[in-house]
Amino acid sequence: MRAFRAVGGTPRFVERASGPYVYDVDGNEYVDLVGSWGPMILGHAHPEVVEAVRAQVDLGTSYGTPTRPEVELAEELVARTSVDQVRLVSSGTEATMSAIRLARGATGRNVVVKFAGHYHGHVDALLAAAGSGVATLALPDTPGVTAASAADTIVLPYNDRDAVTAVFAEHGDRIACVIAEAAAGNMGAVPPQDGFNAFLRDTAHAAGALLILDEVMTGFRVSRSGWYGIDGVAADLTTFGKVMGGGFPAAAFGGRADLMAQLAPSGPVYQAGTLAGNPVATTAGLTTLRLADESVYATLNAHAATIGELVGAALTKQGVDHVVQYAGNLFSVFFGAEGPVADFAAAKACDTARFAAFFHAMLEAGVYLPPSAFEVWFVSAAHDERAIDRIAQALPAAAEAAARAGSQT
Ligand SMILES: *Cc1c(COP(=O)(O)O)cnc(C)c1O
Repeated sequence: MRAFRAVGGTPRFVERASGPYVYDVDGNEYVDLVGSWGPMILGHAHPEVVEAVRAQVDLGTSYGTPTRPEVELAEELVARTSVDQVRLVSSGTEATMSAIRLARGATGRNVVVKFAGHYHGHVDALLAAAGSGVATLALPDTPGVTAASAADTIVLPYNDRDAVTAVFAEHGDRIACVIAEAAAGNMGAVPPQDGFNAFLRDTAHAAGALLILDEVMTGFRVSRSGWYGIDGVAADLTTFGKVMGGGFPAAAFGGRADLMAQLAPSGPVYQAGTLAGNPVATTAGLTTLRLADESVYATLNAHAATIGELVGAALTKQGVDHVVQYAGNLFSVFFGAEGPVADFAAAKACDTARFAAFFHAMLEAGVYLPPSAFEVWFVSAAHDERAIDRIAQALPAAAEAAARAGSQT
């Protein structure tokens, strides 16, 4: 998935990274707007994070026993978010997989409702994403996922309240949970419409089902409390990852104490992981979060606004139809869109050929964007004036390339 298949060309092999820059094996420097797909909010190789990790490595890298950093990281997550308790795991995929298992175990029901274009890791039951209609049971869309494991997944269009209402009217007593990205960031940036997450919670609860909000991408990035810090909707279970690992594999799921008590060893729902809560990973995450104060989030927001405005202005100047859309400080550019993008169908309609031309012109000028029209751009607090200037310098030629690509299609 790190390949350049969507944009063409050869992926850059990166040798090192520092602050807002990555350096490839050929010695080229790029302003990085991928940030390891989200985790690096402080920029690369932040000296305090590196130092903390180094000190922990000297003490040993994994013991299979309780440790101080895992407890302190768990306390930091609980202090920042709506969850009462958390269980640490090693990847976002594990977090969503375990949250679904817990929701099914706690409700005694099987059906999971998800939204088209939302990504929750490569959990078998959550890879079903085909644009099937209301109440249509989705087929698996990758080989290797059995029909049985996708049969209990219902896929709905995002931001569509009528579709949610209809599916609960028909299947309400079989639905264990609704899972949604707290704000969608895996089809470009597509925020929930006003009140949508609260509507999901209320609709689920009225049917005795649970709401899982997936904050693996938004958590500790869009605010110190993630998307919960923006709309205040507390889910029954929430998943975290990316930023909380500080560039190492660490993730978590958490929620209401009565639900978390259903997990083994206190309850019957089994979940475990040999390297979960690993002391090196939790030290990196804890150090990152302790450094991520309000000023870091103000900087991320300001950088996202500045870069989005620069891109918008450059494209407008070249007459390229586009929408720069935000979900907090996550943002993306929908080429060819004429208005706000609210769901996967609208996102998929955007002009990927224009994006590819734009992407390569930016890369040529030393700016590394996500190599896909459907990924958000990630800023860091380390992006300084020089880095933003480099982006500004690269934009006119990239906008021109996008305009030319459009006229050829
Ligand atoms: C990245 C992501 C995941 C998967 O996390 P991994 O660590 O890659 O397994 C799950 N949900 C969301 C919203 C994500 O952005």
